[in-house]
Amino acid sequence: KPAVAVIGAGIAGIAAALRLALKGHAVTVFEAQDTFGGKMYQFDLPGGYRFDAGPSLFTLPALVDELFRLAGRRPQDHFRYERLDPITQYFFADGTRLTAWADEEKFADEVEAKLGVPAAQVTQFLQRSGAAYQATESTFLHKSLHKLGTYLSKDVLGALAALPSLGLTGTMHQRHAKAFPDPRLVQLFDRFATYNGSDPYQAPATLSLIPHLEHGIGAFYPEGGIHSIARSLVELAEELGVEFRYQEPVEEILTAGGQVTGVRTARDIYDFGVVVSNMDVVPTYRRLLPTQPAPERTLGQPRSSSALIFYWGVARRFPELDLHNIFFSQDYRREFQAIFEEKTVSDDPTVYVNITAKKTPTDAPAGHENWFVMVNVPHNQGQDWDALIQKTRRAVLAKVGRALGTELEPLLRAEQVWDPRGIEQRTSSFGGALYGSSSNNALAAFLRHPNFSGKLQGLYFCGGSVHPGGGIPLSLLSAKIVADLIN
Ligand code: FAD
Repeated sequence: KPAVAVIGAGIAGIAAALRLALKGHAVTVFEAQDTFGGKMYQFDLPGGYRFDAGPSLFTLPALVDELFRLAGRRPQDHFRYERLDPITQYFFADGTRLTAWADEEKFADEVEAKLGVPAAQVTQFLQRSGAAYQATESTFLHKSLHKLGTYLSKDVLGALAALPSLGLTGTMHQRHAKAFPDPRLVQLFDRFATYNGSDPYQAPATLSLIPHLEHGIGAFYPEGGIHSIARSLVELAEELGVEFRYQEPVEEILTAGGQVTGVRTARDIYDFGVVVSNMDVVPTYRRLLPTQPAPERTLGQPRSSSALIFYWGVARRFPELDLHNIFFSQDYRREFQAIFEEKTVSDDPTVYVNITAKKTPTDAPAGHENWFVMVNVPHNQGQDWDALIQKTRRAVLAKVGRALGTELEPLLRAEQVWDPRGIEQRTSSFGGALYGSSSNNALAAFLRHPNFSGKLQGLYFCGGSVHPGGGIPLSLLSAKIVADLIN
């Protein structure tokens, strides 16, 4: 079996390396940074605060368990997690607070009590979201959409035939506005478009199956934080003989006669029959394959949103907050217009606050909390980020402080900021986009780059910038598809 080079130790690169090692390939992972995880890295701030830098919400943990099982291990011996209940605390602009309970009926009752929408409407919507997920999952997420064979299998043909009956026409927002009479509930469900960096006013209604992941299957928290997903998988990969070479960025993918032959780094040239790029697909073509023709149409697809994150050490505990907290904007449409049309940050952004110390008390000193405070912003196109950071910081402190009835700035003991420029610099994600290309049109799923190169034998792609898309679960699935294609 050919030796494999994986470019990047992001979550998909790690998972692909693991799967290929299990199939008997010798695998070497080249990573530019001094550690693994990519966007899923962790760091500490002075004063005893630990932060997960990137992802904070974890769904479909079975995709991680599957990797341990494939290796003949009991997942719970290596990686443990709990199902969250409640999932999220929502704070609406009009002062209404709502708790999203894990149990669908309890959540629906809460919606009826707080927003006056009949509980049955909520449970019916969630059930339909679940049915749509079941019908489409195996077709759109588990297989390459770019191989004829995918379309010839019986289950896929069945799923495609079922699509029109699922009522998934129009945009996500249109579907929610039709389903619910209350604009706050519409806003709550519209927010799921941001789970892959999209705009609910443009994204297709098919995305309204995302709530099923959280409410039907569950939202989870890994013991020790999100970073333990990457750490436990790297430990397993190392046990299986995968070699990780840190601080060794790949500078070129070498080719001859339409076939990859290896990689060149600053240190050396290495021979490989197969190369899997976990680097964002745009810089993979631009920087590592400069003389090859690039698929311009695919690479030119609009990017997903990025994020502006404030990591704050806060010298107080807030019992009214949970692991996941959302402080909604007054005018959601205006907020997405700012992000996707004006390419700037809204003056009144929706603010997401994640506090892992609620689950892992050692992540902050006693009586303190570690706040990961995130606002959705456009990807980097040369905006004046320093000015936007100052403006947004003021808006966030005022908004969240108002909702909690306290002045926040005097409580801040440590601070760090990550913006789209920094995300791009650290992870090579084009424009600092969190999820590769956006899903802001009905064909987006088909316009993502395939998991293989149609031009170069032996070249494959995994990670959030290629099929089936961004986020931890889809990145893990991209690794599965790549390993299946290689074998
Ligand atoms: P990445 O994490 O992008 O890693 C790529 C790796 O490749 C990096 O380590 C990089 O250093 C390395 N690399 C790049 N170029 C080279 C080279 N030339 N040579 C060697 N190495 C190279 N997802 C969720 O599921 N839930 C969330 O709540 C969530 N929130 C997010 C919040 C933020 C702030 C961010 C940034 C992301 C969030 N995501 C979330 C998205 C999620 O983090 C990503 O989709 C996922 O981690 C992508 O993994 P990946 O495998 O594509 O690789």
